[in-house]
Amino acid sequence: MGRKPSLTLELDNHTADAGLETRIEAFLDIVSAYRRLTKQQKGLQMPKAFTESRVMIRNGIPMVSTSDGKTIPMTDPRVCMLFPSMGNLASESITAIFRGSGYHAKAHPPSDEAVLKIGRANTSCKECLPLILTTGTLLNYIRNEKKDDEILVYFMPTGSGPCRFGQYAIFMEDLIRRLKIPNVAVMSLTSDNSYLGLGNGFQKKGWWSVLISDAMEDIRSVLLANAIDPDNAMQIFGEEWHHILTQMETGEYSLIRDRLKKTALRLSGIPLKKPVNQIPTIALVGEIFVRRDHLSRQFITETLAEKGFATICSPIAEWMRYSDYTVKKGLSNYTLNLKGKIGFLIKELHMGHYEKDIKSILSKSGLVHAEPLNIETVIRNAVPFISSDLAGEAILTVGSALTEVVTHACGVISIGPFGCMPNRLSEAILSRAMNRDVKLATDPKNPFLKAVLTEVEDLPFLAIESDGSPFPQLINAKLETFCLRAKRLHGRMMDVKKLA
Ligand code: SF4
Repeated sequence: MGRKPSLTLELDNHTADAGLETRIEAFLDIVSAYRRLTKQQKGLQMPKAFTESRVMIRNGIPMVSTSDGKTIPMTDPRVCMLFPSMGNLASESITAIFRGSGYHAKAHPPSDEAVLKIGRANTSCKECLPLILTTGTLLNYIRNEKKDDEILVYFMPTGSGPCRFGQYAIFMEDLIRRLKIPNVAVMSLTSDNSYLGLGNGFQKKGWWSVLISDAMEDIRSVLLANAIDPDNAMQIFGEEWHHILTQMETGEYSLIRDRLKKTALRLSGIPLKKPVNQIPTIALVGEIFVRRDHLSRQFITETLAEKGFATICSPIAEWMRYSDYTVKKGLSNYTLNLKGKIGFLIKELHMGHYEKDIKSILSKSGLVHAEPLNIETVIRNAVPFISSDLAGEAILTVGSALTEVVTHACGVISIGPFGCMPNRLSEAILSRAMNRDVKLATDPKNPFLKAVLTEVEDLPFLAIESDGSPFPQLINAKLETFCLRAKRLHGRMMDVKKLA
């Protein structure tokens, strides 16, 4: 085919019509563009000599090389650092931290159909959905936003493990080289070194941003489901979020704390339909990108809120804690010497301190729990089904689902990209393990669990695979059934609480 456009479609029973239509539309767009360019005899002509941009650390300073051979600091005003969206809160908060550290950082708005289309047009469509969307995001920005003299640094996390995640950054670099896009570099921090790349001060601030965005995401979801006037609640939430971002840019913890206190107070005044501990809550677990990204999860938080459920999404902090856990237990490629071990211990203490503090401040809103995340419990609950040596997301999905159900949630939805390996593994395990005996085994002496589970055999669980298109009818029907079962379990949980 040479450079001629081609399209390959593979179908199975998960494929939605809308997904196929988008691919065909994207293909037709490419064909038209190809015909136009061939007519103009420009073809796909690119500049002859091409030097790709690269990010590097020189004398501890992050630098970027330009396509005309210069090397400039990443804080140079010509450099723009772009973050793909993984849910707007997470991307905006980390961007604020980078801006506060002197970088010209931007969060790309959440993915939409156009981004998905560009992503699909520039991949084989067999890749994982997060890769397709992040590819679409990069190209969308380059086509529509990037200034001519701008040096773009695209943030793309990476890590090793039993799946394709480590290939994302490599794919992006290949794409830039293949399309000969000048002055665009990819920046990665690896989870194997617990994101040590940018120094301790930065790591600490990054941790604040993760904790705050995680908690705010849950608050948003509770407000959506339980505020008497959700539109007004979202307006207040948006204003407060903006204030928090402004303080995050200062990098001053005392200022951020003060702002969080004011936010918690204001949010606590929003009129609610019923006390927060009486709202049915669904735990959303699964692949980290899809469970956070609005398009990938097809606005499931909003759909569940309309049905009266608050959705508590597994936090991003879980992955950070887990990365540290794998380093500590020697499950990653990163080994620590004695000095490193001491530093690691101190870092863990600090992380615990900030987590407790931030959660306790925001819990004053009455909309979110103050309980710190216990990664050891999550792993312990998963280990009867999956070895802790198999590092990756599957163990977290299994462990979180079993930890949350009945204890905090009346149902669990596990969501991931179509064909995601860790997600399929956890789905296979959870579809058998979500039952009374397994849950009781996680905390055999807990009287609340015992009382609730006397009358319940199977626990509400739904696994969803997303390719970014609207969910097919089958999934929507399953979601309805799941909600009925979750509501029933919630009723049982409430009855036991009343009797206690
Ligand atoms: S976790 Fe799933 S979606 Fe992410 S890279 Fe691995 S296989 Fe792909």
